[in-house]
Amino acid sequence: MDTVVRNCRIRGREDAVDIAIEGDRIAAVEPSIEGSAGQELDADGSLVLPGLVDAHIHLDKCMLNDVMRTNVSQTFRESIEITNEHKRAYTVEDIVSRASAVVELAIANGTSAMRVFADVGTIGGLTPIEGILELKRRYEGQIYLEAVAFPQEGLARDPGADRLMEQAMELGADVVGGIPWYEITDAYMRDHVDFCFELAKKTGKDIHMLSDDTDDEYSRSLEYLAVRTIEESYHGRVTASHCRALAAYDHAHAQKVMGLVREAEMTISANAMVTLAFHGGNDRGLIRRGLTRVRELLDEGVNVITSQDDVNDPYYAFGKADQLQVAQYLAHAARLVLPHELDIVMDMVTTGPAKALRLEGYGLEPGDRADLVVVGAPSVGAALRLTPPRPLVLHGGKVVAESRLDVTRHGAPA
Ligand SMILES: [Zn+2]
Repeated sequence: MDTVVRNCRIRGREDAVDIAIEGDRIAAVEPSIEGSAGQELDADGSLVLPGLVDAHIHLDKCMLNDVMRTNVSQTFRESIEITNEHKRAYTVEDIVSRASAVVELAIANGTSAMRVFADVGTIGGLTPIEGILELKRRYEGQIYLEAVAFPQEGLARDPGADRLMEQAMELGADVVGGIPWYEITDAYMRDHVDFCFELAKKTGKDIHMLSDDTDDEYSRSLEYLAVRTIEESYHGRVTASHCRALAAYDHAHAQKVMGLVREAEMTISANAMVTLAFHGGNDRGLIRRGLTRVRELLDEGVNVITSQDDVNDPYYAFGKADQLQVAQYLAHAARLVLPHELDIVMDMVTTGPAKALRLEGYGLEPGDRADLVVVGAPSVGAALRLTPPRPLVLHGGKVVAESRLDVTRHGAPA
């Protein structure tokens, strides 16, 4: 064997195991594997997970918060305006430079796959998608990146964006993005969804849309997206992010939509970190958390996940591309705090998004890809409580990062 990681705690198993690796695959997961490997690593009794997965992050606009004017209103409109002020001057190198800072954090935090959104529209043209595709090339073998062609300013609202979306797919984008709720009429919203399905079918790609990312209880794009997914037999290939309006619907309509989402085998990405900070701005008194119906969707059997979405940009001033931190916030916002619920939350940053991205060989079974993270805590509960440094991160069987908490304590009691 090329590598062995000894003394690992893995989910669903009481005893410690060793994980043997051959090439880029897991060869064996057993207690006390005999013989020595070319590379001997020690997890030291720590929890080992398959690599963390982030299914929704905007790396073309990340880190703009360091250089932009203040987003005074904290509204979607001003966030778009500020982004556009910078987007006009984007270069591929500028995007790669800002995005690399976040990808480095993600790798150090044990992320093995990210679905990266890049704006496609008449303001930035194809520069954002070119930047993200260049980022993907540079990080090949270190982390798996997918590029989403994302029409941030809408399609009907941004005439010419449709042709650019087609060109972005020709350049090599992996996923068709969309933002149907942002169109100004329901008819344009439906045209937007229909256009994205045509493009996805033509290119053979999956779909990830920002759907009903609004407190407006009459926003209906998730319903239409689910119906079209079923009609086009795109089951299991469509993810919708935020879906905040679902929480605002009356219960009867919400139940109907959740049933459609389940039937379409869609994934819903809740992204609690950003929604907590960004939404409910018009509310007085009880302020909404901007969170979709996480518990009810789970009860319905829907694949619910949570993603970073933004890092230090016009929408969100925080974020360190750590999916354990993202999961911790979701646990707070959705009030999933019991031990078995924390297991569900951990699924939302591991197996859940891996399913949404349809990652091949994801897991900790023999034959799976050797993408794994040693968490630096012994259990799921401790990992989500402490979000500790990750002592070892492996991608394709190779160590890509190591980090440790380095504390020097003075004056400790005897
Ligand atoms: Zn987003």
